[in-house]
Amino acid sequence: MRPAFLARLINGPAFDPCVFVRPCHGREAVLFDCGRISGLSNREILSVRRLFVSHAHMDHFMGFDHVLRTILHRRDPLHVYGPEGMTGRVLAKLASYTWNLTGDYPLEVVVHEVAEGHVATCRAAAADGFAQGPAVRAGRTGATVYSCPRYRVDAVALDHDVPCLGFALAEPFHVGIRAGALQGFGYRSGPWVGLLKERIMTGCTDTAIAVDTVSGVCEIGVERLIEELVVVSDGQKIAYLTDIRASRENIARFAEIARHADTLFIEAYYLHERAGEAFDKGHLTALQAGLIARELQARTVIPMHVSPRYQDRVKLLERELLEAWKGL
Ligand SMILES: [Zn+2]
Ligand SMILES: [Zn+2]
Repeated sequence: MRPAFLARLINGPAFDPCVFVRPCHGREAVLFDCGRISGLSNREILSVRRLFVSHAHMDHFMGFDHVLRTILHRRDPLHVYGPEGMTGRVLAKLASYTWNLTGDYPLEVVVHEVAEGHVATCRAAAADGFAQGPAVRAGRTGATVYSCPRYRVDAVALDHDVPCLGFALAEPFHVGIRAGALQGFGYRSGPWVGLLKERIMTGCTDTAIAVDTVSGVCEIGVERLIEELVVVSDGQKIAYLTDIRASRENIARFAEIARHADTLFIEAYYLHERAGEAFDKGHLTALQAGLIARELQARTVIPMHVSPRYQDRVKLLERELLEAWKGL
């Protein structure tokens, strides 16, 4: 399956965990956590429309200012999702600056505070000096905190002594093009293929699109193109789990949203010889991370957030995780 989303661990395994996800077709990116983000280009930061913050420890949230500084002149709002208390934390960051010159700036920051059973949303606009706007509370029954035709993001609150969100970004289904089919029907590859996928994802199949063919551009119905070219399969899933205690309850909650992830980004903070310390501080050992990946049947596992004490021994943690994941 050709992936619809590309995900990158910005700082490698040993520094602040931060994952940048961008669609292969489309410009609107997603960021999971924002501690140190110097590995992101300005162009990449400008493409981030949704920022999902697991919790507000500094190594997961200090880069918010960097994001804000980069996008300050942007027209599209920035949506920030986080656990209970997130609204106050974002507003406190915003309130720490002087905003007398932003009266004509279009940027809005929209905070979505994810709680058990509801999401509280609050807007703050640059034009109003980022003063707190009215809050809207919406109930939720499932784990989904954001959805659009191309993907949804699920979140569950986990225990890290403070609430910490685990996330999964999932395509509802994957639209692929059958190998060799384009040439077989005399079509040329081009942006229309992305448009075709978009029409299918949004359910607009009773329309036609302009297709590049060997004999010029032709209007062809989406239904016909589906029959000729398309293979539908399970959607891609990217899961992100950090800063949790290895309790049965945490693992079971995360499994509800992250089972069968194509890519699992997971913290491996300590070697298992420090399992006691990991439990006390609400972190995972590499072995626990590997066992969780095995239980979730993750297809690829990427360890992250390795403790600074192992800076020169990261390979050891990677091996411990890998062996547990593979059941060696
Ligand atoms: Zn933490
Ligand atoms: Zn952390």
